[in-house]
Amino acid sequence: MKIALAGIGKIATDQHVPAIAGSPDWELAATISRSGSVEGVEAHHDIDAFLEARPDIDVVSLCMPPQPRFPYAEKCLRAKRHVMLEKPPGQTLAEVHALTALAQEMGVTLFATWHSRMARAVAAAKARLEGQEIRAARIIWKEDVRHWHPGQDWVFEPGGMGVFDPGINALSILTEILPRPVHLTSATLEVPENRDTPIAAELQFTGNVSAVFDWRQEGTQTWDIEVETGEGLLALREGGNRLVLGSGEEPAEFDLTGEYPSLYARMAELVRSGRSDVDLSPMVHVFDAFSLGRRVSTAPFDF
Ligand code: NAP
Repeated sequence: MKIALAGIGKIATDQHVPAIAGSPDWELAATISRSGSVEGVEAHHDIDAFLEARPDIDVVSLCMPPQPRFPYAEKCLRAKRHVMLEKPPGQTLAEVHALTALAQEMGVTLFATWHSRMARAVAAAKARLEGQEIRAARIIWKEDVRHWHPGQDWVFEPGGMGVFDPGINALSILTEILPRPVHLTSATLEVPENRDTPIAAELQFTGNVSAVFDWRQEGTQTWDIEVETGEGLLALREGGNRLVLGSGEEPAEFDLTGEYPSLYARMAELVRSGRSDVDLSPMVHVFDAFSLGRRVSTAPFDF
């Protein structure tokens, strides 16, 4: 199937282009980006012109930041194209509800992707937690924003979610693996005095579940979820890629590349079967944190 990729920047280049190139399901037939392009692939710089010029490309994958994404998604769906959304699927919940309804009305697929759910050990963790008594869970998600988002000011602008941009990856795993849902009860958000979104956050949920997100972590990076069950500790480390049970371990490399081929395989399945997949539960936790969070002003941040 032919697919077009829109918003050619960091994640499109690092993950989407190689995942599509390696996929038996997809052919990258065009790009749509104001300035970015992929060597050897037909480049469009305007979404309207693309939709007019290439009615034969039925599927569009949108990789730009969440703030400008909605009008692109809306135009593609109205033109009866199937749409795949990078995470987070929008800058508000209402945007994604509107897209879900529109996809249904137009009879096309909408896939709100959560790449971290495709990390190697997530399905195994979910299977092990099924039916278990969950006594407590902790998320520790600490990384260096300067390393992972160099110069990307959009993360600190309204709609960019700040540290919840990586934090929502942890929440996408949590909402996938816990046998019963939890909800947020309180939060503290640390917002740099020269920015609009948090650089760090602490969250408390029902069921003794907590999370700490911090974007100021230099050196060792931590993407851990630890779950205390009736049968002992289950830890997902390295962003869901390593499962550690008690003292035992099932080793795996930390490697995002397996996540994106799985997303594209899933998209192919959804298009072929005429279904959509939109789960907003990770986003609900983020916006509950923005609603209940106590804001603390912290040191200015510049890249
Ligand atoms: P990025 O490199 O800053 O942006 C991607 C591209 O989007 C830009 O190169 C730009 O291409 C286009 N774009 C930016 N602002 C735009 C606007 N106002 N209107 C239209 N197009 C615009 O961002 P990214 O790191 O790839 O992240 C994009 C999405 O992927 C985010 O939702 C992020 O959460 C997700 N993601 C990122 C990572 C990561 O490691 N960075 C990992 C997983 C998921 P043109 O200038 O050519 O239009």
